[in-house]
Amino acid sequence: MRRVRFAPSPTGPLHIGGLRTALFNYFFTKNSGGSFILRIEDTDKKREVKGADKHIRESLSWCGIEPDESPWKKGLYGPYKQSERNEIYKSKILKLIKMGRAYYAFDSEDELSNLRNEHEKNGQTFVYNWRNRMKLKNSLSLDKEAVSELLEKGARHVVRFLSPSEGSVQTIDIIRGRSSIDCRILDDKILMKADGTPTYHFANVVDDHLMKITHVIRGEEWLPSLALHFLLYDAFEWQKPKFAHLPLILNPNGKGKLSKRSGEKGGFPVIPIEWGGPNGLKGFKENGFTPSGLINYLSTLGWTPEENVEILSLDELTKMFQLENVVSAGANFDLEKMKWYNHKHIQRQEDAVLAEEVKLLCKDAKEIRTEDLEAAVSLVKERANTTTDLWGLMSYLFYSPREYGEKDLKKIKKDGLDRICSKIISLAKERTETSGFLEALKQWGDENGFGAGQIMMTARVVLVGNLSGVDLQNIVSFIGLKDVQQRVECFIKKNI
Ligand code: GLU
Repeated sequence: MRRVRFAPSPTGPLHIGGLRTALFNYFFTKNSGGSFILRIEDTDKKREVKGADKHIRESLSWCGIEPDESPWKKGLYGPYKQSERNEIYKSKILKLIKMGRAYYAFDSEDELSNLRNEHEKNGQTFVYNWRNRMKLKNSLSLDKEAVSELLEKGARHVVRFLSPSEGSVQTIDIIRGRSSIDCRILDDKILMKADGTPTYHFANVVDDHLMKITHVIRGEEWLPSLALHFLLYDAFEWQKPKFAHLPLILNPNGKGKLSKRSGEKGGFPVIPIEWGGPNGLKGFKENGFTPSGLINYLSTLGWTPEENVEILSLDELTKMFQLENVVSAGANFDLEKMKWYNHKHIQRQEDAVLAEEVKLLCKDAKEIRTEDLEAAVSLVKERANTTTDLWGLMSYLFYSPREYGEKDLKKIKKDGLDRICSKIISLAKERTETSGFLEALKQWGDENGFGAGQIMMTARVVLVGNLSGVDLQNIVSFIGLKDVQQRVECFIKKNI
C-alpha cells in the first residue's frame, strides 16, 4: 500500500508550489487507496514562523485534502511534528555513530570560517570531507580518550556524516531517471546540530523510514540532496522509498522560481488562502478563485492528463494522475490560464454555493434573499472568471442604476427618446406578465419608425445604466414590470 507524505517546514504561509507538491502526492496515493501523511518539519526553530502550520493545514483543508495522519490526526507512526521526535533522532544518531558511519566534530564556527576564508584566498573552496577531516578536530582525528573527555565536559559539537571517500552513488528518480554522483565531491553533512536537534537531511530520512513512506514526491530543489539521502539509507541498511522530484513552478516570464514579488507585480496571489498578521497577504480564495479551479490549474503545471480533457475535479484528477507522465521541465505560471480554469469551475459550481460566496464577499448582497441571489447567479455566471466578478455582473438586477454611463447615454439621446421611455412605462403598466415584453416593444418601435437596435439600446441603458448586462428580456423578467416602470421614471427625471 502506498504511503506518501507532504513535509513542509513551517517557515511562512503555504506557497502554491508547496500546494502543488501536496496535490501530486495526494493524487498519486489516493489513486490506489493509499495514505497521505502531513508531517511538519519544524526542526529549524530559528526559521519557524508562528501560525505557519495552521496556514498549511487550513489551506489543504480548503482544497478538500484531509491527511490520513498528521499532527492533528494521530496515526500509528506519530508524532507528526519533528520537534516532538527528538528522542528518536538521538537514538538513531547514536546507532549511526556506533556503526562508524557518523562522527563527532568539535570544530568551532570561528575555526571553520577561518578555514573557509583561507581556502577562498587561494581560490579554493573548503569542503569538510575526506580531503580535510583528518586534519580537523573530530572523533576520527582525535584519540578515543580525548573524545570521551570532550564529550563528558559537554564540549560544543555536531555530528557529521562520514561520506565515502571513493566510489559513486547511483540515484534513481521516477521523473528524471538515473544519475551517478561521485562521492568524492560530497561533504560530510551535519546530521545533528550543536543544540542537539537534527538537520533537515537526518530527520527527513529517519522519519520517512520510520513512517514507512513508500514514495517521496517533492520539489526539484531537493534533488541535490538525493545522493546524501541514498547514502544515509544505505548506511542504516534501510530499504529506500522511491523518489520523484517535481519540476519548479516558474515566474510568468519563465525566469526563476515563482515568487511573492512577481505575484505582487503581476497582481496575483501566490498562496491559497489569506495569511494574517502584520505582513498579511490575500490568497486565491480571497481573490475569488475556487479551490477546484486552483487545483485543476496547478495540476497542469508539470503534468497533463493522457486523455484530451481539461476541466477536472479533485476526484477526477486523482483517478487520472500518473506520476510517470510528470515532466522535468519547469512550468511558467500563467494568470490568464488560471482564470480560464477558474471560469470553467465556476460554471460547474452550484448556484447556491456561488450565492453564498457572493454574500460573503459583498456587503450589499447580504440583505438579498438567497433564492433571488441564486437566480441572478445562474444568469450571470457564464461571464465570471472569479467569484469576486459575480456581484459586479449582477448588482443591477437588484438595484436601479445610480448613474448612467456617459458614452452610452450619448448613444441613446436621439429624437424620440421620450417616446420610447413613455412606451416602456405604458407597456409595463398594461401587461400582466413579463414574457414577450421586448417583442412587444420592438414591434411598437417598428410601427413607429424606431429600429430594433435603438429600442434595445435605449431600454438597456435605461434599465441597467449602461450597455452591459445579460439578455435584456431576462433582465425584464428578473426585475419585474413594476421595477421596469420605476427605473424608467427615474431615468426620465434625471436625464430628460
Ligand atoms: N521540509 C522540506 C520542505 O520544506 C521537505 C522536503 C522533502 O519533502 O523532503 O520542503
